[in-house]
Amino acid sequence: MTHRIAIENSDIAFDCDSGQSVLDAALHAGIELPYSCRKGVCGSCAGSITVGEVSGVNAGAVRNDTCSADQVLYCLCAPTSDLVLKPLSWKRLDPSARKTFTAKVYSNELAAPDISLLRLRLPTGQRAKFQAGQYLQVLLDDGSKRSYSMANPPQESDGVTLHIRHVPGGRFSAQVTQLRPGDTLQIELPFGHVTLLEDDSRPIVFVAGGTGFAPVKSILDDMLKRRVKRPMTLIWGAREAQGLYLPAAVERWQKQWSDFRFIKALSDVPTESMDDAYAGRVDQALRAHCPDLTEHVVYCCGSPPMAAAVRSAAHNCGLASSDFHADVFVPGPAAVQP
Ligand SMILES: Cc1cc2nc3c(=O)[nH]c(=O)nc-3n(C[C@H](O)[C@H](O)[C@H](O)COP(=O)(O)OP(=O)(O)OC[C@H]3O[C@@H](n4cnc5c(N)ncnc54)[C@H](O)[C@@H]3O)c2cc1C
Repeated sequence: MTHRIAIENSDIAFDCDSGQSVLDAALHAGIELPYSCRKGVCGSCAGSITVGEVSGVNAGAVRNDTCSADQVLYCLCAPTSDLVLKPLSWKRLDPSARKTFTAKVYSNELAAPDISLLRLRLPTGQRAKFQAGQYLQVLLDDGSKRSYSMANPPQESDGVTLHIRHVPGGRFSAQVTQLRPGDTLQIELPFGHVTLLEDDSRPIVFVAGGTGFAPVKSILDDMLKRRVKRPMTLIWGAREAQGLYLPAAVERWQKQWSDFRFIKALSDVPTESMDDAYAGRVDQALRAHCPDLTEHVVYCCGSPPMAAAVRSAAHNCGLASSDFHADVFVPGPAAVQP
């Protein structure tokens, strides 16, 4: 059965097939609602329904703890009647914006024993159009896809740089060290909504876990190129120091911006052996170093449990729910595109 979905205060309306999520139906109809993981973890697609009823896709939950009382996650819910949505924002998709490329491996280095820095070049003359903070999908030969955030700024558009942590037994990431210059990969981009909001000069706190540093690096390099100045704090966490695998990038930002603060958070290193790092997790470092987050914006990138812990810490420090933006590296194959 098909239901009609409208967006409040607009002339937008589209159909949603039974069992299809509201988010998938919107994307299929060329309407982009905010989203990131599409698996009910990050909370980016939380929005209200002012008219009509929904149920969980496959009878699952329709909300998580990121939702306020009147919100559901559009990626998890399917209509059981016609609906009127009130999303936080929406825009018409530009069909020419997302492209598939056959990219060539330019270089593939180890930045840490379990992290590869993979640089891909697009075919001559082609450009990758994306916003800092967005991600791409690698198309594997079994038809599945894996998501990776661009670590380079959008101004460097003749290729993309990815930071890939080797997941033991992982279909793609555990094999990534075998890629050699000249090998090719099919990639599609851009995806995702965790990008910097313009017209906002409030202090930003970036919280990254491991390779969650990749989208943060893209955003910070982009800000540097655009000469944006805002008070900024980066909290980057790993188990051990070698997990903070790109110190030169951080040193560059420290040199360029006088109001850039860097806090290392190392969770598996004895306190007494550290003089320049916080001994503990990133959420604990956030509480310790940023006790008052009113009128701040927080961008958080990393694993689902890390993002949940940081969200909770940020709210306890006074951050407004709408000022928390998370790119959650949900494990496993990417959700199927409509
Ligand atoms: C929006 C988005 C952006 C992402 N960006 C990055 C990025 O920039 N860098 C990066 O390294 N990863 C990133 N990821 C994660 C990435 O897409 C893959 O999930 C990851 O690399 C594992 O893929 P794989 O094929 O090696 O493992 P799979 O074959 O998919 O999984 C193998 C097994 O490992 C488990 N597993 C998979 N990933 C993890 C994990 N992270 N932790 C614990 N267990 C896991 C799976 O559940 C499964 O049991 C991102 C994910 C999303 C959704």
